[in-house]
Parts: sequence; C-alpha cells; structure tokens
Amino acid sequence: MPCTAKCRRRASDPTSPTFLLSAPAPKKGSLTSKQALLTLLVAMLISGIAGSIELLSHASNIRQETEQRITHQLAIVNGAAAEAAFQQPDLAHQIAYGLFNTDEVAWVSIRDDFGRALAEFERPRQAASTWLSQYLFGDIVHYQTSLAYYMGSDMPEAVVGEIELMLSEGYLTQQFLARIYRVVGVSILEAFILSIVVIAFFHLFITRPLLKVHAAIAQTDTNRPGQWPKPTLRGHQDDELGHLVDSLDHLLNAFQQGLEQRDQLHHLSNMDGLTGVANRRQFDEFYQRHWHLAQQNQQPLSVIFIDIDNFKEFNDHYGHAMGDDTLRAVAKALNQCIDPTRDLLARYGGEEFVCVLPGQDHDDAVSVANCLRKAVLSLAIPHAFSSTHTDLTVSMGVASMSPGHSISAETLIERADQHLYNAKRLGRNRVETRKRLA
Ligand code: GH3
Ligand code: MG
Ligand code: MG
Repeated sequence: MPCTAKCRRRASDPTSPTFLLSAPAPKKGSLTSKQALLTLLVAMLISGIAGSIELLSHASNIRQETEQRITHQLAIVNGAAAEAAFQQPDLAHQIAYGLFNTDEVAWVSIRDDFGRALAEFERPRQAASTWLSQYLFGDIVHYQTSLAYYMGSDMPEAVVGEIELMLSEGYLTQQFLARIYRVVGVSILEAFILSIVVIAFFHLFITRPLLKVHAAIAQTDTNRPGQWPKPTLRGHQDDELGHLVDSLDHLLNAFQQGLEQRDQLHHLSNMDGLTGVANRRQFDEFYQRHWHLAQQNQQPLSVIFIDIDNFKEFNDHYGHAMGDDTLRAVAKALNQCIDPTRDLLARYGGEEFVCVLPGQDHDDAVSVANCLRKAVLSLAIPHAFSSTHTDLTVSMGVASMSPGHSISAETLIERADQHLYNAKRLGRNRVETRKRLA
C-alpha cells in the first residue's frame, strides 16, 4: 500500500517517531568479480583434471604406437638383414641406415652370428635421460631381434646374426612434451572461453537482476518502505527472482502499514479525544523540548493559560452535551490564532487550554492572547448565567521567558497560572501578564 498524503505529512512531523537506522556502509566487494574468479578457478580445475586424464591416455598411445611401429619396421627388414648377415655384408649398411634415418632412433647395429658389427650408426648423445623420460619410455627403448636365414626346404632356419636398436628417450619425451603443451594450451583456452561464456550468462541472468534488486533496496527510504522503487526483472516474472521481488514488495508494504498504524497510534495518544487539539501528554513533551531549545538558542518562549469563564454554570444550565460542543467550538476558534507549524495549542484539562509559543516574546504573546480572547467572543455563544458577560468568555494568563533571564520551566508555568488567577480575580474576560498586588 503506498504512503498516503497524511502519512507523508506525519513523516515530516518532528513529534512523529522516526527510524534511526543508518544505511549500511557500501561494501567494496563485487558479486560479478567474485563470480568471475570462482568460475575461472572451477573451469581451470576441471580443465586441469580433464587435461591430466587426456595426457595419461596420450602417453599410453605414444608408447603403443612407438612399440608397434618399431616392431613392424624390424619385421620388414628382418629378411633382408638376414641376407646381409649371411652373404651380403654391404647390404647391412643400407638396411641399418634405413632404420637409423628417423630422429627417434639413437643407435642401431646389425651383427653377424659371430657378433661382429656389419653396420652400426649412433647419434651423438643428447640430453641425459630424466626421471620423466625413464618413467614414460624407459621400458620400450631397447629392441633386439635375431636374423633367421632360410637355407632351403630340407634345412632348418639358421640364426645368422641380429639387429639391435635403441630409441632416443629424449626424443620421445620431447615429442610427448610438445603434445602436452598443445593439449594444455588448448584446454586452458577452452576453459577460458567457457568461463567467459558462463560469466556473461550468469551476469546477465542472475547477477545483474540481483544487483538491480540490491540497488532498489539501497534506495528505499526506511521511513517509507512501501514506496520502494520496485524493480522490473524482465524474463524473471515466473521464477525465483521474480518471486523474491514480489515477496520483498509484500514485506515492505506490510512494514509500511505497520509504520502507518504506529503513526496513527502515536497521533491518537497525543490528541485530545473531545476537541481534537493536543492533549496534556503532548503539551508536556512539547513544552519541555522547546524550553530546552529556547535555553540553548537564547530565544524567547511564551506560555498562555486559557480558562473558560463560569463554565460550571454553563454546564449546569445548558447541559453537559452542549458544554462538550462548546469546548470543541472554543478549541477550533483558539486554533485560528496560532501558527500550527510553530506553536502548540493543547487542552490542559477540563475547560482549560494552554498555548506554547516558541520564539515569541512577551509582546507577541500578548497580541496572540488578545486574538484568542476575541476569537472566543466572536463565537457569540450565549451564556445567560455568566456573572460577568452575556456571551461565553475566556480569561488568560501570559508568561514569557526572555533570552538572558532564564527561569525554570516550572516557574514559567506557575507564573502563567498565577496571571490567569489574577485575570479571574480582576473580573474575567481579560488577559493578565504582570504580577499584581492583591
Ligand atoms: P471560572 O470562571 O472560575 O473558571 O469558573 P468555572 O465554573 O469555569 O470553573 P470551575 O472549575 O468551577 O468549573 C469547571 C467546569 O468545567 C466544571 C465542569 O462541569 C466543566 N467541565 C470540565 N471538563 C468538562 C468536559 O469535558 N465537558 C463538559 N461539558 N464540561 C466540563
Ligand atoms: Mg478551570
Ligand atoms: Mg473556568
């Protein structure tokens, strides 16, 4: 429920209770940057795990491929190498060189059955083998195959020599690392791109609407929560975010209603039920507050006590109901002589009223008092049983506090009361401001 005009007026009323909640200091952290960082970390972790699994599989593939390839090559050259070992040593050179022609082979040797080297090639030793190269390829670098020569159909195959071959661990490891760098590089790039997409998605669909809700709450006036700038979250009307906004709206409106009820109760508890002007409780609070302010700011303050003359007779003859109507009419007339944004008119009790005039000196107060007296007279309420006048009249006592002549709050009231007593004593329907001798 939006705040009514009445509620807005009350919010600016100094006597209306207000919330003293100060807005929480803005936090420096950013939801988007936290979410971005978290997403990146998770993406990197997942890509790291996936990359490791992929690398293990790559290592296994390289080992398998290498073993198969070398075994296959040795099988292909076996017949020719046997021929070379048995009767054509020149051929051994060509065969060995053919095997040696790839960078992965570190050393190759073809020997006859006496162990004499027919051909041998060796590369200068490259980097020393590391624990990684040992671990990955240490058991697949050495190959040794016997050369069997077929002598004829009635003769068994004879072993005429052997081929021995060593692969370069360093070369295999380099190949493996090159693959690692490619795989890791691609994984990181994939993770990064995926993170950007996820971050953008979350920012658009979750973080930004949440930030909108947060901004709206931050802008909400704690004295008028029902008037909060309810955000419209496009595309979220039917999901949890839309529900969150509706729940907040409901809550803030309930809060607003509570505040309005509190203000109404506060207003009622400070108002006189019969006349509608301030009651004694509000007078006490207002008077004490303005007396202290006047002391602090060295400003004048005046009080006027107003009492209806011969009201007992009025009641006795015209009846209590008529008396009540008259009290209401008198209160309304008195109210016209004061400035309600600055002064206070209160029912002090029975048929007595009191005016507090902050910032007004003795002369100002006397002219207000004369206005009050005339306002009641102008009502022209007949009072045939008054001992002093044919119409209803009031008597008043005025007391003022001047800057530099401070008197206590109680003394000021006592003086005004004393002057009222004098006004009664001196014939009623008058304003008294000075102490008089009996
Ligand atoms: P004085 O001029 O000396 O003030 O005489 P008075 O008769 O006005 O004063 P007194 O104190 O003797 O009587 C006050 C009367 O005011 C008594 C009572 O009947 C009347 N009165 C007080 N409160 C109310 C009220 O709420 N309604 C009505 N109708 N009368 C009230
Ligand atoms: Mg009285
Ligand atoms: Mg009276």
